Amino acid sequence: TGRLAGKRCVVTAAAQGIGLATVEAFLREGAALVVAVDINQEKLNQLASQSRVACRVLDVCDGAGIRALAMEFPDINVLFNCAGIVTNQTFLETTEGEWDKDFDVNVKSMFHTIQAFLPQMLSSGDGGSIINMGSVASTLRGIPRRSLYGATKAAVIGLTKGVARDYIRQRIRCNVVCPSPVATPSYNVRKQNDQDSDMDLCNHIVDNLTGRLASADEVANLCVYLASDEFTTTFLRFNSSGIADSRR
Ligand code: NAD
Repeated sequence: TGRLAGKRCVVTAAAQGIGLATVEAFLREGAALVVAVDINQEKLNQLASQSRVACRVLDVCDGAGIRALAMEFPDINVLFNCAGIVTNQTFLETTEGEWDKDFDVNVKSMFHTIQAFLPQMLSSGDGGSIINMGSVASTLRGIPRRSLYGATKAAVIGLTKGVARDYIRQRIRCNVVCPSPVATPSYNVRKQNDQDSDMDLCNHIVDNLTGRLASADEVANLCVYLASDEFTTTFLRFNSSGIADSRR
């Protein structure tokens, strides 16, 4: 029983923060299996004793490794691409190597995982849900010292919309989650080293909006909804241009 009863899920960046909270939420909601992927073996080990969890130490940039993972787990319904890194600097301080690395981890990783897992979702006939991790630092807002990060997350929004458009008629849902700052281990480290940028946004939110940071559990709960069958495409109608129209 549960909102995700029977679902077989993959979560990247599963060892801490939003990824870990989402693994725990998926399990609470009855997922049949959660494949927890991270490069941090030590932290991933905290999940190893849980039933219905398969831990795999794997870099999301390792295309061959991701393809092998999809062969090992050939009946995945839910893919949560959570892995991402933040580089904290102005545009002119950014090197070409950093540009390539952050696009590899934050964007090309999704090329690998979606290429690997989407074919099995399509052939299952049961549809599937792909959830990509974006950020408010993207097309949504300009954040100081986040030009590279924001460029990668803007790319994630474009990728998500394109995948959704290509496969929605085959019952594949593809969504992007764009949180404001979330209280996670890496955010707490950044907060200490980076008073000017994250804190500008954070103070705005704390002072003017919610009065606090988001929690990893709140993002995880949104991912439960997006992964569940509560959110289906069956109500969508298509107009003559083939554009999904959600009016009933
Ligand atoms: P985090 O930064 O605390 O942890 C990230 C996890 O990803 C770590 O366990 C790390 O080992 C793993 N990881 C890093 N590179 C990897 C790779 N190449 N392959 C596999 N695993 C890898 O996590 P977080 O703060 O919860 O962030 C998760 C995602 O949410 C990221 O994509 C981030 O950009 C996004 N996000 C975070 C915030 C925030 O304020 N924390 C806000 C918006 C979006």
